Amino acid sequence: MEQNTVLSTDLLIDVLQVSKNNYAVIVPNKIVFAVDASQDDVKALVQEERNNPENEYASGAHTCLGAVEEASMTLLPTFDCNMRCIYCYARGGDDQVFMPKQVAKGAIDAIRGTSNAQSLSLYFAGGGEPFLNFPVMDFAVRYAKQLFHEVSIAIVTNGTFGAEQLEWIIQNEVSVRISCDGVAHDYQRQFSDGNPSRDVVQANIRNLVNLNREFMIQCIVTSNSVRSMVESVDYFANLGVKTLKIEPAHMSETCRGNKDMTPSPQEFARNFIETLKHIVLNGLPLKPIFRTFPTE
Ligand code: SF4
Repeated sequence: MEQNTVLSTDLLIDVLQVSKNNYAVIVPNKIVFAVDASQDDVKALVQEERNNPENEYASGAHTCLGAVEEASMTLLPTFDCNMRCIYCYARGGDDQVFMPKQVAKGAIDAIRGTSNAQSLSLYFAGGGEPFLNFPVMDFAVRYAKQLFHEVSIAIVTNGTFGAEQLEWIIQNEVSVRISCDGVAHDYQRQFSDGNPSRDVVQANIRNLVNLNREFMIQCIVTSNSVRSMVESVDYFANLGVKTLKIEPAHMSETCRGNKDMTPSPQEFARNFIETLKHIVLNGLPLKPIFRTFPTE
């Protein structure tokens, strides 16, 4: 598989070529994507970031952030994915791009060098399925533990991880959020070969329940699944899920699939209220979290 190319390292600004004409400019506190860009565009972007007063630490000598007690950073280990969810905002799997160890190390060094923090919150998130770059994640955790007294780890995953990753979650007391769409899962979240993925995800949810681990489920509701929220809540309650985040699909130009998958706010609200009533009236031991629609 293709590895992403580190084109340049400009003090704390890295430029990675993600694929032809697509670049990621990595500044310690953010990643800026340059899509359909020429190398001149990327150079101009790097210059802009270097001149950005918010990136003072990237323009010369590192500036200590002062007496910060806890630092946090998010790593995106890969854009590759073993699933092809119909609403994927990142088109996970379209690019087989993996963060090299040197980038993870550089990011951790950067946050160590610019902060007095004794503890680090390290998040692994998508753009793809983080566990597909498990060796780099494991390396990042081990390395961070050498540099910080305390490291807390969190991951957002599609829940298709194997036994080795489950053991890693337990050993490192990782806070886990699993994406699972309940009764609509096999329609909305298939493997890249078109096979259903719910059985695999469900087995991992059961594993975490049986191990008494706290975790959260994130359930995306589309215009197709908005009327099955109650069934999905029953499904999760039967599995032993305690915390459930229900979120409407937010479609944008970058999303995979057609753009009319966002449920209408009225229909979403009506069904969400019915779902809350269902939880309360049936005494389901499940805490629902609701994310609203974006405002323009
Ligand atoms: S698992 Fe996540 S990254 Fe992969 S296709 Fe689905 S939404 Fe996208």
